[in-house]
Amino acid sequence: MTTVRTRIAPSPTGDPHVGTAYIALFNLCFARQHGGQFILRIEDTDQVRSTRESEQQIYDALRWLGIEWDEGPDVGGPHGPYRQSERGAIYKKYSDELVAKGHAFPCFCSAERLDAVRAEQMANKETPRYDGHCMHIAPEEAQRRVAAGESHVVRMKVPSEGVCVVKDMLRGEVEIGWDRIDMQVLMKADGLPTYFLANVVDDHLMGITHVLRGEEWLPSAPKLLKLYEYFGWEAPVNCYMPLLRNPDKSKLSKRKNPTSITFYQRMGFLPQAMLNYLGRMGWSMPDEREKFTLDEMIAHFDITRVSLGGPIFDLEKLSWLNGQWLRELPVERFAEEVQKWAFNPDYLMKIAPHVQGRVETFSQIAPLAAFFFSGGLNLDASLFEHKKLSPEQVRQAMQLVLWKLEALRQWSKDGITAVIQAVAESMGLKLRDLMPLMFPAITGQASSVSVLDAMEILGPDLTRFRLRQAIELLGGVSKKENKEWEKLLAAIA
Ligand code: GLU
Repeated sequence: MTTVRTRIAPSPTGDPHVGTAYIALFNLCFARQHGGQFILRIEDTDQVRSTRESEQQIYDALRWLGIEWDEGPDVGGPHGPYRQSERGAIYKKYSDELVAKGHAFPCFCSAERLDAVRAEQMANKETPRYDGHCMHIAPEEAQRRVAAGESHVVRMKVPSEGVCVVKDMLRGEVEIGWDRIDMQVLMKADGLPTYFLANVVDDHLMGITHVLRGEEWLPSAPKLLKLYEYFGWEAPVNCYMPLLRNPDKSKLSKRKNPTSITFYQRMGFLPQAMLNYLGRMGWSMPDEREKFTLDEMIAHFDITRVSLGGPIFDLEKLSWLNGQWLRELPVERFAEEVQKWAFNPDYLMKIAPHVQGRVETFSQIAPLAAFFFSGGLNLDASLFEHKKLSPEQVRQAMQLVLWKLEALRQWSKDGITAVIQAVAESMGLKLRDLMPLMFPAITGQASSVSVLDAMEILGPDLTRFRLRQAIELLGGVSKKENKEWEKLLAAIA
């Protein structure tokens, strides 16, 4: 019997997402339940958006939750490298193989031609797809152009009619018409593979037997299955997990719910409670109990108990469950966890330089610095009245700062300052004009320790959360404003 091997394959392109942890957890449980292995692979073929910082954050966030992998870029293993950017030669070899067998072809079409084809198809109310232009070039001719260095991508051939039957552990057989599937690009003009080729080659070479992934990937399943068929490989067993949703049932998004695992860490959730809550997403224990450990989940795991109704990721429910966990900790453990969270020497050392010069006794520290140990704040709307700005401009300035901070890659005082400065300038103002808004939003007070330092110390998750809270308190952003301000945003350096 082959050993069960599952994997999580995140792309390191942003904050570590709760959805990644959710899918990782289910893959881990499935593997462990069968005495198998769980692998972590980094899918960083998007070289523009992938960063090493984001990769590290994924490791840290998953480990914080208690999710460990048997093989991965940072722990090694017999099937490495586990980072796709280090496997370029492998993909090239397999892409060449598909072209040689006639399952894929070099495509030399320019962006302009593709745009024109697309526009015409849209005008004719057809689904836009590649029209097969370069598929008809004779192979020798195509090879000659490739050898001459002409810019090209490699596309896969797909059937033009009939249906693809996708077997899914949860849904049974799902039929997807080939007329909905495009001739997918497998290798980009820069010589790097797309998700489709890299994912199939790696899952095969890494011996992955079962793939549990988010259901947003279901529509593209036929492309993957076709590739397995072209290579003559057995496809792994597939399971398309229901997507996490906001309480209003929309797809979980950071506009409505914090989605970064680091946010929950920073807010003071216990990792065990968080993992427990993720385990409750679409799944339940046979005895329906709400509170359980990872080991208990593994012991009772049964993938068929996943229900397809979209699981709702609800901060209030999570908080309730976290409360259960906290109250049941032995009091010494509770004190230890509190210390680890924010009363540790590292964090105190960041704050100390900013309070030392402002107090005469230690007992004055708590009132001055309580916001460093809080999540959301009880904000007072009157603190946001501004000498120069109308209430609308106040919201606008804060929303622009928030958006810019959401895009800020390197979280540092200089970076934050530059963002606020740029927003101020775009509104014909100075940095110091916007400071009276930042103080109450971030510290809850009209003045306090340096707010730029405070933002750096609090980190991106809490800073953004508090700005969002303040904007909500002041009335939020209407659809119309959202549109107008997004245009302004685009113009800010
Ligand atoms: N890199 C893909 C992601 O970021 C992996 C999807 C899959 O599991 O196949 O979600």
